[in-house]
Amino acid sequence: MALFDKRKSPGVHPPGNKVASGKAIERAPLPREIILPLSQHIGAPAKAIVKSRDEVKTGQKIAEAGGFVSVPIHSTVSGKVKKIIQVVSSVTSQVGDAIVIESDGRDEWIELPRRVDPNSLSKEELLNIIKEAGIVGMGGATFPTHVKLQPPPNKPIDTIIINGCECEPYITSDHRLMLEKGEEVLRGLWIMMRVIGCERAYIAIEDNKPDAITKMQSLVSKTSFPGKITVESLHTQYPLGAEKTLLKRILGREVPVGGLPMDVGVVVQNVSTLKAIHDAVYEGRPLVERVVTVAGLVREPMNLMARFGTSAEELIGFCGGAAREADEMLFGGPMMGIAQPAFDTPTQKGTNSILVKKNTKMEESNCIRCGTCVEACPMSLMPLMYVTYVKNKKYEDLNDYWIENCVECGSCAYDCPANIPIVQYVKVGKAELRKLGVKK
Ligand code: SF4
Ligand code: SF4
Repeated sequence: MALFDKRKSPGVHPPGNKVASGKAIERAPLPREIILPLSQHIGAPAKAIVKSRDEVKTGQKIAEAGGFVSVPIHSTVSGKVKKIIQVVSSVTSQVGDAIVIESDGRDEWIELPRRVDPNSLSKEELLNIIKEAGIVGMGGATFPTHVKLQPPPNKPIDTIIINGCECEPYITSDHRLMLEKGEEVLRGLWIMMRVIGCERAYIAIEDNKPDAITKMQSLVSKTSFPGKITVESLHTQYPLGAEKTLLKRILGREVPVGGLPMDVGVVVQNVSTLKAIHDAVYEGRPLVERVVTVAGLVREPMNLMARFGTSAEELIGFCGGAAREADEMLFGGPMMGIAQPAFDTPTQKGTNSILVKKNTKMEESNCIRCGTCVEACPMSLMPLMYVTYVKNKKYEDLNDYWIENCVECGSCAYDCPANIPIVQYVKVGKAELRKLGVKK
C-alpha cells in the first residue's frame, strides 16, 4: 500500500493567478547601474576582488567564494566599479557589503572559455565549473549547488527530483523556462546525474501546466536515456514545491526532523538551476541573469530575463509601472515571498519573482484553537503551539512540536481566522532556538 496518496495531501488552494504563464520570456533592458550584494547565497559571503574605479566586463569575477559553502559573484554588466556600499541582504537579512557598478551600456563580455564536450570532463572538473560559475539553488533557497551535488559518502543518492512545480501563486518563470528552454534544462539534468552518479530522476510538474508536462515528456522520450527519467504530473496543491512535501508525495519518503533530502537518498534541484548548469558547462557562461516574473499590481505582467543587481523598480517600469494603490513589493510569491524595504531593491540570484501589491494585513487577534492550521499543515505539525510558545517565550518547548520540520510555507496562516502571522512566530522561534543552541 502506498504511504501517501499522490492525489491528496494537506495544504491549501490559493488562487493561482498565473497571469504571465502565456507570456514568452523577454529580455529586460540593460540596467544603468547594478548593485550586487556579496551575500546572495546561503553560507559565507563572497569576498570582493575589485575596488572603486576598476573597469569590469560582463561575466568578470568580482568577488571570490568566501569558503567551501560559498560561491563567487560576477559582474552582470560592463562598466566601472563606483563604490562598495552596505545593504541588507534579502537572503540572510544581515547587513553586508555590495558592489555598485555603473554600466557603460556596451555589455562587453569577458572572453568565454572554448566550448568542450562535457563527456570529456571528469566529475571534479564539472563541479569546479559549476562552482566557478557562481551557481546556487535558484528556487529561492540559494544554497551553493556544487555543495549540494557532493553529498557525503555515507549518504548515497538514488534519486534526483527536479522541482518544476512552481506552486506559489503568480510565479511562472520556471514554467516558461521548461517551455522555451526545455532542452537546456534536460542537458543540465544529465550533467547533474553524471556528477552525482545517480541513474534515476523525476521531473515534477503540477497539473496546472499541461503544456510544460507535454513538452518535457516529449523531450525526455527523445533522449538516449528515457527510461531513467519520469515526468511526474502532480495534482496542483500548495505547497507541493517545498522539497520535503515533494519528496513525500513522489517517493513516500519522510525527511527526518532537522534533516535534508540527502538523508533519504534524494537531491532536489530547481529548473532554473539546471539551465544555469547547462549554460556554465556547455557555454562557459557564469551566472549573471535569470528569468524573473513581474506580476501583481503592474500594468503588464511579464517574464523577464534580467541581469542580477537590476533595481526592481526598473523591471516594474518595463512592465508599464505599478498601480497607484500599490504600496508593497515582495521578492517571491504571496505565500513565502519576502517584503522588500524599497521598490529600488536590486534583484539577486534567488529572485524568481517580483510581486507588486497593496498591503492588506489585518489585525491579529487571539488564537481560538479552531485547528484550521493543523489541518492545513503539509508537515503534520501543530502550528498553533508555535504561536503559544513564542508569545510566552518558552522557546525550548518548541522542539517538542518539531518546529525544525516547518518548511515555512505559510499554509497555516493562509486560512487562520485570527489573522495570526504564524510563520513570523516560527521564524522567531527557530532563531531563538539557534541562539540557545538547542537541538532535538
Ligand atoms: S488557525 Fe489560527 S486561530 Fe485556528 S488554531 Fe490555528 S492559530 Fe489558532
Ligand atoms: S507550520 Fe510550517 S510547514 Fe506547517 S503549514 Fe505552517 S508554515 Fe507550513
